[in-house]
This record gives sequence, structure tokens and C-alpha cells, in this order.
Amino acid sequence: MEIKKNDKFIVTIEDMGEDGSGIGKIDGYIWLVKDGLIGDVIEASAMKMKKNYGFARLVRVIEPAPGRVEARCPVARSCGGCQMQELSYEEQLKFKEKKVYNHLKRIGGLEYLFLPGQEKEAEAVDGAVVMEPIIGMEQPWRYRNKAQYPIGPGKDGLPTAGFYAGRTHALVPIPELDCVLGCEENQRLLKVVLDFMAEYHLKPYMEESHRGLVRHVLLRKGYASGELMVCLVINGDQLPHADVLTKRLEKAGVSSVSLSVNKEKTNVIMGDKIINLHGPGYITDCIGGIEYRISPLSFYQVNPVQTERLYHTALEFADLHGDETVWDLYCGIGTISSFLAKKARKVYGVEIIPQAIEDARENAKRNGIENVEFFVGKAEEVLPEQYEKNHVHADVIVVDPPRKGCDAVCLDTIIKMKPKKVVYVSCDSSTLARDVKVLGEHGYMVERVRAVDMFPMSGHVETVVLLVKKR
Ligand code: SAH
Repeated sequence: MEIKKNDKFIVTIEDMGEDGSGIGKIDGYIWLVKDGLIGDVIEASAMKMKKNYGFARLVRVIEPAPGRVEARCPVARSCGGCQMQELSYEEQLKFKEKKVYNHLKRIGGLEYLFLPGQEKEAEAVDGAVVMEPIIGMEQPWRYRNKAQYPIGPGKDGLPTAGFYAGRTHALVPIPELDCVLGCEENQRLLKVVLDFMAEYHLKPYMEESHRGLVRHVLLRKGYASGELMVCLVINGDQLPHADVLTKRLEKAGVSSVSLSVNKEKTNVIMGDKIINLHGPGYITDCIGGIEYRISPLSFYQVNPVQTERLYHTALEFADLHGDETVWDLYCGIGTISSFLAKKARKVYGVEIIPQAIEDARENAKRNGIENVEFFVGKAEEVLPEQYEKNHVHADVIVVDPPRKGCDAVCLDTIIKMKPKKVVYVSCDSSTLARDVKVLGEHGYMVERVRAVDMFPMSGHVETVVLLVKKR
């Protein structure tokens, strides 16, 4: 049977892809069906066909998979923010654990790796490593301390906030402005901004024409401090009537209000220039007894509950005794650095964003941490330079790179520096696996692996790996 575009067909979902899409087969041809879950029998509609596989849309579920649950959010399917709301949380955790395992095994070549629960099978294998169970959340909702809402015209023509649909930039408005992953205050704050825009006829930004003013609204909350931040990303140099908005947000309990100027035709959300309108230009938060200040441009983990667990896992893997020199590459505002500093002799942090390093230095001061030093720059430039010029040494190197993983030069320098241990914190297990393979070829063996679910309802997963130098 040949299936053409828009044809409907019945298929059983047998597997799930990287992004959580269901995978089924008909006559050997592979169909990727977004929102299809392993075990579902569904009716699907063909959307786009390639030589070896095609994309289809879920029309209706005929027989639900055992893990299928009802989504909390009415736009869970169309909105690109969540990929797995219809899978029970327990099954989401299993899926993520398996994803990390598959990457490390297939891309990383770790033949000696086993899933949690496979202790028996592992016994027979020399040097076997059993992954530690994934750390999930007790309450996997409203966990995000940060939201960046694109602003666009709503159905009634008035500005609204939403998220982009999966692969496109079509705006899916958030029902009642209340995303179930964001904090409760967001709805109220978005309403203040959108009402203000409507009242003063301020236009949302339009990507196609590069016209309009307000591109995104960034909201952040310090979960421990309760402090709120609002930053409007604008396609212009100023916001008309900014004083009115500032007063209203102040009244709504916001302690930091700012503008980020972004006039480029780009997918990058924030512009480099920040105009402060109210407050000190940052909010504060606290993780594991350490206080942090966070500026609009600084990276800060989005899930504070899981972040603390992630950092404890990294610290446990590093197993410091007090006399070590540690490098924390991709350090952001120095959060992991300060956790490490409590147990090490000296910690050096490296980070590319200057504002984040300003925050990192201030955070160290604020917490009376004196044994850290920070460098602004690319890890792949700062580390080789420090190693070649100043012959710096490392007992342990911690890396926490963005999704694309570590740069080859960075890995190469790590290998030359010969630290006893590398603790790799990763938000993309495929690039982690690629880098683990390189380190493995130079004598670093994986000893511990643990996934942490920082992003419930999405397909993403965080992983911590301990590599130890064996030769
Ligand atoms: N460890 C920190 C930040 C991790 S996110 C935390 O847990 O909060 C990754 C960080 O790497 C971001 O702050 C990003 O700005 C930074 N970054 C991206 N590319 C970089 C590079 N080439 N060199 C150094 N830092 C980089």
C-alpha cells in the first residue's frame, strides 16, 4: 500500500526517538509520529515523506499505551515547550535513562555499561559499570524559575504571549497565560505587560517583516528568595512609557525590571545591551546554602530543586579531600565552582559571558569564598593559554558545556593536563557520548553515570559522568 500526503493509516508505535516522537513501521517504511507513545495503536495522517522515513500527525489513539496519561495543558500537543506530557512521569524517567544509556553505548562505545537494575548481568562482565538510578522530581510541575515568552498578535489582534510550535516559529498562545511548567506569578506578570502594550498600542515584533517592538518577555524568580525579574526584549533602543510599566511591575512585587535591546534578525533571544529600569539589575537566589546574584544575561539552571541534586551529584563524583586544584569549565555564575570550593584547595572557573563572570566574582565575595578565581573567555582558549604559558595544573576538571559539548581543543588540553578525574555535566547525552569516547581513547574510563531530570515533560535530560584516568 502506498501512502500519500494527507492519507490516514493505522500504525503501532514500537519505539520513541530522540525528541520523544513515536516511531512505527509499515512495510518496512518508518513513520515518525509526534505524540505517539510506545505501545500506542494510533490513526495517523501522513505529512511529509522522505526516502527512508516520513512524518505523520497523530489523529486519534485507538489503543492507548500503558504509560499514556491525559495532558494537563490543553495545548500540550501543539506547543513546542513540552514533548512528553502524555507519558506518565515514571515512564518519562525510564525513557530518559534509556536515552543516556543508548548514547553512551552506541556513540560512546561503552560496552561495559549497564542500566540500573542490571546488576546481575553486570556481574559477569569485567570492569562493568552500572548506571545509578535517574534522579526524578516528586512534583514534576511548575519547576521552571525562568521563562522566555515570545510575544505576538493573538486572535483578537491584541498582543499575547505563547511558545513556538515544535519546529516552526508559529506562536501557540498559552491558555490563560498560565504555563504549567512556569511559576504561578508568571500569569499575573504577563498580564501586566500585555495590558500595558495594548493600552499604549505597542506592537509585538513580527519576524517576517522585522517590524514591531516587543520580541520576548523574560521572567525569572529566585525560588528561595521569592525575588522576581522582568526583562523585555525589544527591537528598538527604548520602550515608550517605560516609567508606567516599571511602576506597575514594581507594584506587582517585581524587584528587577530591565530592557534587552535586540535589533538583529536572529533566533537568539537576548540582545547584548541591557537597560536597567528598576532595581539593582539582578535578583538573588540561594542553592545549598550559597547565595547567588543573577543578571538577565547570565545562565542559571532553570530547575532549582533538581539543580541542588545535580550539583551534589557532581560534588560526590569529584570526591574532593581539600588539597585539590580544580578547574570548572563553562562555569556560568560560578555555582558549581562555589560548591567545589568548599571542599577543594583552589578552584578556577572559565566562562564566555562577561556579565556571568561579574556575577560569579560578586557571588564568591558575597559568600566569603576566597579560593576561587574566574576567567572570562572561551574554555578552548583560556585553558590552553593558561596551561602553555603558566603551566597550570588540575587534579580534577569539571565541565558543564552547552548542548554542542566540549570543543576539540578544550578536550585536547584536558588530555594534556592529565587530571586524575574529569566530572562531565551534560545537557545533551549525544555530545557527552562523543566526548567520552575521545577521553576514553586517552585513558579515561567511565566509573559512574547518573542522569538527573532537570526538565520534566520535555525530552531533555541532564547527565553526570565520572571519568578516571587509568593509564
Ligand atoms: N555550570 C553552570 C553553567 C552551565 S551552562 C551552571 O550550572 O549554572 C553552560 C555555560 O557555558 C553558559 O554559561 C555559557 O555561557 C557558557 N559557554 C558557552 N560556550 C562557552 C565556551 N566556549 N567557553 C566557555 N563558556 C562557554
